[in-house]
Amino acid sequence: MTAFWKSRPFGALAVAVLATLCGPLTPARSAGTAKPAAATAGAQVLEGALDIHVHADLDSHKRYIDYIDVAKLAKSRGMRGLVIKNHYEPTASLAYIVRKEVPGIEVFGGIALDRQAGGINPSAVEYMAHVKGGWGKIVWMPTLTSENAVRAFKLNEPGVTVSRNGELLPEVKEVIGLISKYGLVLATGHVSAEEALMILREGQRLGVQHTVVTHAMEGPIWMNIAQMQEAVRLGAFIEFDYNLGTMERLQKPGGPHKGPNNFLAEYKEAIHALGPEHCILSEELTFDSSDLAGHLDGVAPFVSALGLNEHEIDLVLKENPARLLGLPAH
Ligand SMILES: [Zn+2]
Repeated sequence: MTAFWKSRPFGALAVAVLATLCGPLTPARSAGTAKPAAATAGAQVLEGALDIHVHADLDSHKRYIDYIDVAKLAKSRGMRGLVIKNHYEPTASLAYIVRKEVPGIEVFGGIALDRQAGGINPSAVEYMAHVKGGWGKIVWMPTLTSENAVRAFKLNEPGVTVSRNGELLPEVKEVIGLISKYGLVLATGHVSAEEALMILREGQRLGVQHTVVTHAMEGPIWMNIAQMQEAVRLGAFIEFDYNLGTMERLQKPGGPHKGPNNFLAEYKEAIHALGPEHCILSEELTFDSSDLAGHLDGVAPFVSALGLNEHEIDLVLKENPARLLGLPAH
């Protein structure tokens, strides 16, 4: 196991908790193209890419690079931009600082409505919308501390509730109203598949223009294709996490994922069922080891193993992320 694994403080719950960390233990390279060719192709596929889901330092979880260096690295690979995600604190102001330090790359932030940020906290969303620069873009429903995650992984901590008896809580509706009011992006976080769909329906009702199902196939969300198709009908993009695409550790116990590398097969099936025009590949810039170059070089063989053609690769890495963030196409 890697140092990252050993460093997790949750002991026997490590697998379950790691399932929610959005940062894998081993690089996703099973798509297996020879390295020099992959490196060349990797540079091409990443050129102009926007990663909507990037975990780096500063964080309380072990990360391998900080946000200033990750922005420099992304810029050196010709990427267009990235969205800083932290599970516990808002990142709009960090985006401002990173932009100042690393000009020439589009950096955005957001807020995950986890317990540490006050849970479902309309005031925090309202504040983020007004932070200088306007770089706060994405509002994630609760992630690691969502009631769904706490229940699924049997965590010994309170969870943030978004619904009761099949109905979204009033404060969740208030947050969705603010997302609509300020033109922000509604991301479903780690709530259950059913809750995510309720949230998207409310988003549609309240006029939210930009919605995404956060890594829909990963635990503790585990959306099936029918649910993802419903989300697409509700106008949402479906996010697929590159980091975890070739791994088996997020398998639902007794669930649909069986055997190593089946995530790749299941991603492929899902992306083709949904249509790449509705899908986003993210977390190219979330690193699980110090092999940053190897991780980035793995993107090209990965997207090619997904069976995507050049145009479709542009959709999932560049055009759809830009549309989600309300940015002009490059
Ligand atoms: Zn994440």
